[in-house]
Amino acid sequence: GSAITTRAFLPVEKISMATNHIISGRDLTKRIDIGEGKDEIHLLAGTINNMLDRLETSFEIEKQFTSDASHELRTPLSVIKAHTEFALEFAESEEDYKEALEVINRQGDKMSALLSQLLFFTRLEQSNRKVELKEGNLSNLVQSIFDDRYLVLQGKREFVGSIEDGITARYDESLLSRLIDNLLDNAEKYSEVGSTIKIKLWDTETAIKLSVEDSGKGILPENLDKIWNRFFREDESRSEEYGTSFGLGLSMVKEIASIHNGTIDVDSQINVGSTFTLTLPK
Ligand code: ADP
Repeated sequence: GSAITTRAFLPVEKISMATNHIISGRDLTKRIDIGEGKDEIHLLAGTINNMLDRLETSFEIEKQFTSDASHELRTPLSVIKAHTEFALEFAESEEDYKEALEVINRQGDKMSALLSQLLFFTRLEQSNRKVELKEGNLSNLVQSIFDDRYLVLQGKREFVGSIEDGITARYDESLLSRLIDNLLDNAEKYSEVGSTIKIKLWDTETAIKLSVEDSGKGILPENLDKIWNRFFREDESRSEEYGTSFGLGLSMVKEIASIHNGTIDVDSQINVGSTFTLTLPK
């Protein structure tokens, strides 16, 4: 009896040893190997391996995020350092110092903008499960964002609103405002002076729809899947031209949409324009 029990539990011991090995070695690339089989023990090993696959993927994403964030912060920091050293060693006139300080100030603003976006992400992840969606008048919210923006955009773009009255939904006001702001920022950033930006809110039988449409430069078809990834920019070399552009806005948009049990889609054509549509459940 003892021999049979020992043999039967051997795979369990193997699983336990392998898991301990993975934990102590902190090596998420390792998997449990107890050979082929169809019993419960093999099923358990398979489940643990699947869990390790998912852990490894999310760990890799986090690692990539940290590395990208450090890279983004290092660039302005090295510009600041170079200009400080230049000013200390070679600046002769007040004009030279002023020029260096202006560059340092701009780069400082850039770092601060990036840090606040990174902090926003961290808070979003920490509070993910705690966000309380409240029933509210979405039409009023969108209308007030439209009114505020209208004053700023006037003269630069033709800003058009088509906002249906009386649409209510369950949402978090500050998060949803951030989502709409991000879409409007992009619509302005990636379009020309004089072009049209349209914001629409309407409801269908099953869903509430909100869209931001621009007639700007559009997105390449092969990038339509990638724009949602953190730090992805279509044209990295021209990010300075687009102001503080870190490639974080749309991943934030996607996360906020998912917190609202909604989805976000894009439809875009090069040199014709892009339409981002948020769909919320009714
Ligand atoms: P950011 O705008 O800070 O670079 P986003 O995450 O908001 O970051 O967008 C990622 C990329 O998607 C942008 O760099 C840009 O290439 C592309 N993109 C986003 N919105 C638009 C738009 N309305 N028109 C054209 N391209 C866009």
